[in-house]
Amino acid sequence: MIDLGVLKGLSFAVLGLARSGLATVRALEAAGIECVAWDDNAPSREAAAEAGAKLVEPAHIDWPKISALVISPGIPNRLPEPHPAAAAARAAGKPVICDVELLARARKAARFVAVTGTNGKSTTTALIGHVLKSAGMACEVGGNIGRGALDLAPLGADGIYVLELSSYQLELLQTFHADVAVWLNIAPDHIDRHGDMAGYVAAKAHIFDRQQAGDCAVIGVDDDYSRAVHETVAALPGVAAIPVAADRPVAGGVSFRAGMLVDADGYMVDFSDVPTLPGTHNAQNAACAWAACRWLGVPRETIVEGLQSYPGLPHRQERVAAIGKVVYVNDSKATNADATARALSSYRDIYWILGGQAKEGGVTPLAPWFDRVRHAFLIGRATELFASQLEGKLPYSRCGDLKSALDAAHERSQRESARDGCAAVVLLSPACASWDQWKSYEHRGDAFRAMARALPGAQILGRAA
Ligand code: ADP
Repeated sequence: MIDLGVLKGLSFAVLGLARSGLATVRALEAAGIECVAWDDNAPSREAAAEAGAKLVEPAHIDWPKISALVISPGIPNRLPEPHPAAAAARAAGKPVICDVELLARARKAARFVAVTGTNGKSTTTALIGHVLKSAGMACEVGGNIGRGALDLAPLGADGIYVLELSSYQLELLQTFHADVAVWLNIAPDHIDRHGDMAGYVAAKAHIFDRQQAGDCAVIGVDDDYSRAVHETVAALPGVAAIPVAADRPVAGGVSFRAGMLVDADGYMVDFSDVPTLPGTHNAQNAACAWAACRWLGVPRETIVEGLQSYPGLPHRQERVAAIGKVVYVNDSKATNADATARALSSYRDIYWILGGQAKEGGVTPLAPWFDRVRHAFLIGRATELFASQLEGKLPYSRCGDLKSALDAAHERSQRESARDGCAAVVLLSPACASWDQWKSYEHRGDAFRAMARALPGAQILGRAA
């Protein structure tokens, strides 16, 4: 836990008492700092009260006495409607911040690597953390991934916090300064919270706020918005703005072409055989991680070893088991067609399990990858919609639930791969939310992992989790 002793004398209101909010309350109380807390959800309030939180309804908070409102990033503080507590804090002239801001104020000596982007944040954050730890550096990984910022261990001047930061968190920072800011990509998302695309880009661009001479900004330049961001950041005095591009050399930057990662000086790394980082989207993540770690002084050989030993994250193209020539992959985090497209483009001879609660457009946008799929196994509420969208394009079966789909995919893939002597993939990449049959995408992915590993003859791949 982070010692917030430097904030003594201040007093805070904490809104939102899930993972990061609870950690904030605990850290404030441990440091003897006054705080009141609230969550609109009664069970969360009860859990917080048990942990010692002093609950006060926002309407009864004595705002003049409060130094700042620490808000959970998931709670709207401006758009589409500010939460009443955020509106009240602003009306009283109080700043609205998040837990990462408190971490920054408490750990001034440590360095910070911040990672943002529409896609790939968790992967790149975990990858940078893994490489730095492999290099023997003192480092803590958290923020939007894993542990909340104030649950991390205290680090001194030789320590590095690697933080995944969402656009929501980035809007809630006042003094935080990234020694290394990593911007992966940007595509339309979360427009309800940011008003329009310009608002979303502006929120994310806060990652570069307060960067100064000697700092580094690693920027993926594969989309138009990000190229414009790179131009702006490259003009900041003394900030090294390193571009990262797919499929083309980029002056002074890192690129990835045909499975090779190419550094600014022409140094090349073959990472085509890293099974935990499949696809060009992961090449972007790896290249950005490479640039950040090089800037932090990690030797090239150590980064190469780190990329190769990266264990991957659960539910994101996670290889969970192998039987014969068939690998079983859990991509339960793919809750929309865009994410599933990444998975389909990463493999061939796919036995594809999909379905659940469909998103707009269903699987029609995935047609360019249908020739990679041997057979589709439909589950959940989307079954009839997807059947109509796949009709005449792909052979499919209606399976009802995940267990039946896995059994059918297993039987067919084993039979056909033995017959044809070819490798194959049983892929759960649902292109759907999970709520029709599961509590969450994690719940669905955990079940798939357990079921695949329980198949006869299964060799366990990846971590035991
Ligand atoms: P985030 O934390 O930004 O949601 P993750 O690292 O958890 O991203 O990856 C989630 C999904 O996003 C992956 O399963 C993959 O489908 C897709 N993805 C990952 N990295 C990228 C990238 N660099 N560009 C586009 N899509 C990506």
